[in-house]
Amino acid sequence: HNDSLDITTFISSQAHRGTVAFIDGSTGRQLTYAQLWRAVRSVASSLSDMGIRKGHVVLLLSPNSIFFPVVCLAVMSLGAIITTTNPLNTTAEIAKQIADSKPVLAFTTRQLISKLGGSTTDLSIVLIDDDEIRAPNHGTGNGKIVSTLGQMMVTKERHGSSNGGLNLKEEINQDDTATLLYSSGTTGASKGVVSSHKNLIAMVRVVLSRFNLDDGEDTFLCTVPMFHIYGLAVFATGLLASGSTIVVLSKFEMHDMLRAIQKHRVTYLPLVPPILVALINAADQIKAKYNLSSLRRVLSGGAPLSREVIEGFVEKYPTVTILQGYGLTESTGVGASTDNLEESRRYGTAGLLSASMAAKIVDPDSGKALAVNQTGELWLKGPTIMKEYFSNAEATAATLDAQGWLRTGDLCYVDEDGFIFVVDRLKELIKYKGYQVPPAELEALLLTHPQIVDAAVIPFPDEKVGQYPMAYVVRKAGSNLSEKDVMEFVGKQVAPYKKIRRVAFIASVPKNPSGKILRKDLIQLATSSSSSKL
Ligand code: ATP
Repeated sequence: HNDSLDITTFISSQAHRGTVAFIDGSTGRQLTYAQLWRAVRSVASSLSDMGIRKGHVVLLLSPNSIFFPVVCLAVMSLGAIITTTNPLNTTAEIAKQIADSKPVLAFTTRQLISKLGGSTTDLSIVLIDDDEIRAPNHGTGNGKIVSTLGQMMVTKERHGSSNGGLNLKEEINQDDTATLLYSSGTTGASKGVVSSHKNLIAMVRVVLSRFNLDDGEDTFLCTVPMFHIYGLAVFATGLLASGSTIVVLSKFEMHDMLRAIQKHRVTYLPLVPPILVALINAADQIKAKYNLSSLRRVLSGGAPLSREVIEGFVEKYPTVTILQGYGLTESTGVGASTDNLEESRRYGTAGLLSASMAAKIVDPDSGKALAVNQTGELWLKGPTIMKEYFSNAEATAATLDAQGWLRTGDLCYVDEDGFIFVVDRLKELIKYKGYQVPPAELEALLLTHPQIVDAAVIPFPDEKVGQYPMAYVVRKAGSNLSEKDVMEFVGKQVAPYKKIRRVAFIASVPKNPSGKILRKDLIQLATSSSSSKL
């Protein structure tokens, strides 16, 4: 293959029949494929005029929008590096990411611009704003607005060649960096994940094969965040190579989502487990109010999916096929997936290994490879594995070995048929006496109780035993389930060392945008409320 092909050129050069690329789910505004590529070329040309060059980092702080991919694709087409950030991050968290990644320019919205405060007053800012009138060149106290996206999109394609090629840029090598995404920081400090054009192109190939998109006739709904690898891989890059239509919602709101599915006849809905749970719990009201007959497939990723959720969904939405996808920021979102309901019903599986990848299960202590059905750490290798953690040689060395294997940090086993099962995350194991207790297993068990709607299990510190499992439980409305009931329910079904020894009831389990339980927050809650009781 062409070694100098960049990700943007790769996607735009894929032949497909699609007409509409993006529809704004709230305003109905559309971007056709022709408009999308024109916008990307125009923004790239303006960026180039501003002095953005290969290797420069550009920050994108924005909720999902039909313009989010325009910015990403334009930046990457120049060989510059896109770094995204969660709009829910605090000013201090964003300042930290800016200090680490050192962007030369930031794209953000009017609503979010104040979050670029603090140390970043000299950062040049482009407002993601549709209006074509150049904003005055003034300081905001948060940086200097140098242009608006609307302005950049109408700039004449001075440098574009007549065949529409993006030949204004410096030559890009496939090993050059394309994205610098920060991991969610669920299990520790967030790290900058450096991915190359090669990584992204390989990921797009996997997305194309995994989603069975040869017909290009699907309409997708995007509610998962585009700043995260899930949304970036699927919606801001991968699906565009297939000619699919993508309806974009700026954030998840149940009724907006349902209205958009009905209005745009959405066929395919990639989401995270908490949204599936909400769809199941409100299924009767939802079906009475909305016509969801267009929906054919739902993809769940980012966090484990329990048997109860799979079966609950099958029962409530029998015409929709539920699929699973597993991946990490460090593997550009690629890892494993299921292809049909039968596969998804191997409960607990993340699916079969993705095309072009290799996997092994390794004993985390001895480093020895393990056999079928033995549980150890999943290691992945292949063209989607990141280059490194950004300026963090220590973390890189601890995660990538010399042969290119990525330690996923996930405790997994592989069955006789090659299906990967994620047992838990190594860093989240609870250490009770000498034993290791996987919280995900206890959570799955708690969810089988008819009066439990949701649950999270955390380590509770204890001088004598080290840590013991504590459960936060969301009861069904009107349920009078007691703490003792919960402990007995689990105690009867697990080995003694796995018993839950403390229970608290809460209204909802805190989760991040990729669907993961925010155990850090719960641990803090548990330890602070227990000390305040003393
Ligand atoms: P940090 O590494 O900073 O803690 P993070 O790991 O939460 O952040 P992500 O890259 O968003 O950052 O998450 C990847 C992890 O998500 C995987 O290692 C795995 O634990 C989990 N995961 C993703 N998809 C699935 C899935 N389908 N089933 C189970 N777990 C999943």
